[in-house]
Amino acid sequence: MAIKKYWDEEIETISKNNLKKYQLEHLKKQLEWAFNKSSYYRQSFLENNVALSKLKSLQDVHKLPFINKKIERDRQLAKPLLGDLVCVHEEKVIFISTSSGSTGVPTVSPFTTKDFKEFQDVESRLFWGVGMRPKDRYLHALNFSLFVGGPDVIGAQNLGALSIWAGSIPSDRLLFIMKEFQPTITWTTPSYAWFLGETAKKQGIDPAKDLSIRKIIVAGEPGGSIPATREAIESLWNADLYDFFGISDIFGACAGMCENKDGLHLAEDHIFLEVINPDTLEPVAEGEEGEMVLTTLRKEARPMIRFRTGDIITATSEKCACGRTLKRIKVKGRLDDMIIISGVNIFPSDIEFIVRGIEHLTGEYRITVFEEDHLSKLTIEIEKEDHSTIEDIELASLFRDKVKTRFGIKPKEIKILPKGHLPRETHKAKRLIDLRNKN
Ligand SMILES: [Zn+2]
Repeated sequence: MAIKKYWDEEIETISKNNLKKYQLEHLKKQLEWAFNKSSYYRQSFLENNVALSKLKSLQDVHKLPFINKKIERDRQLAKPLLGDLVCVHEEKVIFISTSSGSTGVPTVSPFTTKDFKEFQDVESRLFWGVGMRPKDRYLHALNFSLFVGGPDVIGAQNLGALSIWAGSIPSDRLLFIMKEFQPTITWTTPSYAWFLGETAKKQGIDPAKDLSIRKIIVAGEPGGSIPATREAIESLWNADLYDFFGISDIFGACAGMCENKDGLHLAEDHIFLEVINPDTLEPVAEGEEGEMVLTTLRKEARPMIRFRTGDIITATSEKCACGRTLKRIKVKGRLDDMIIISGVNIFPSDIEFIVRGIEHLTGEYRITVFEEDHLSKLTIEIEKEDHSTIEDIELASLFRDKVKTRFGIKPKEIKILPKGHLPRETHKAKRLIDLRNKN
């Protein structure tokens, strides 16, 4: 039996016209569902004079009000546990995950049986897209504790892969599982993939030769989409690295790279995408950077309508070499992490791009933003490799020049540290320290 190329060929290779029809039909249903079942959406549509009967095209979505994390949190507090964005009674909800809560009360993301099944089907699709097949052994090393990425393992299992439910466990134990069970695919954050590879080497294990991981899925940080970072991890592990993007309010992963690694295909049958200018709130032109706004098309428990994610992305509708027609996104970073220096927008991922491209450096870095004479200034700390013979002063000047060439700005200070001086994070690396607005 020939193995299929796509998990869901009809959706993944759908024509633009058919996708538009599909999205419009489901958008209408989703909005009616929200209006009829959620007290929040009903009131918000009425207050904003939204007439659902007049919704004729996908562009009309612009007439709808936005929601954001703050509204999500406030509505949850107003009507605990699930809030009044929900459209079903609690009896229908079979699963909840929560956001990390790093910026306040954790928000709860509810799923009905249908939502959960569709979520897992999208995960299977994304896994299939990176080449996971039933013959693979998949090591799931994501946190199971309330985290939406936990149940993604079911997507691998439904695909037929032998799935190892490891969860978030100490590195020594994870390496033990890798040695003993010889899994072929795993999923982690980019900084942890790097950390784990380095830890293995310290124990005398060469991840490229002694371990069988040949595909690594990463998410949670932009690293997987920064070519130099991706290539460094790929060569450490002798594996292909694929970036996924998830959002706890919708799915564990709702977009993922295919084997061509040029952007992440979005599950457009479940999500309608807008990219807007975060200041004017108007759509940006195709390919331009802007904030990602998502509208669910099929969510039963809690539709998210024009949800401002706070992520800055670019998107393209050009057909991919893999044959899939679904839009591809590239995530640049969080709007909150964007620094404006001399009028230039910079993300930690931009600095990472430079750091990873210089062979004398370990790849670790930390950015501090502070205010001086009412202007934002940058200090960048980077680590020199032990074997490098370049003088610190020369290395700092090389780095400064690269930043200047790429962004036209000069960091106030470049600090060269010995290898191992910056903290290694096992989960999300803290790359940005913002000292502004503090007296
Ligand atoms: Zn593709």
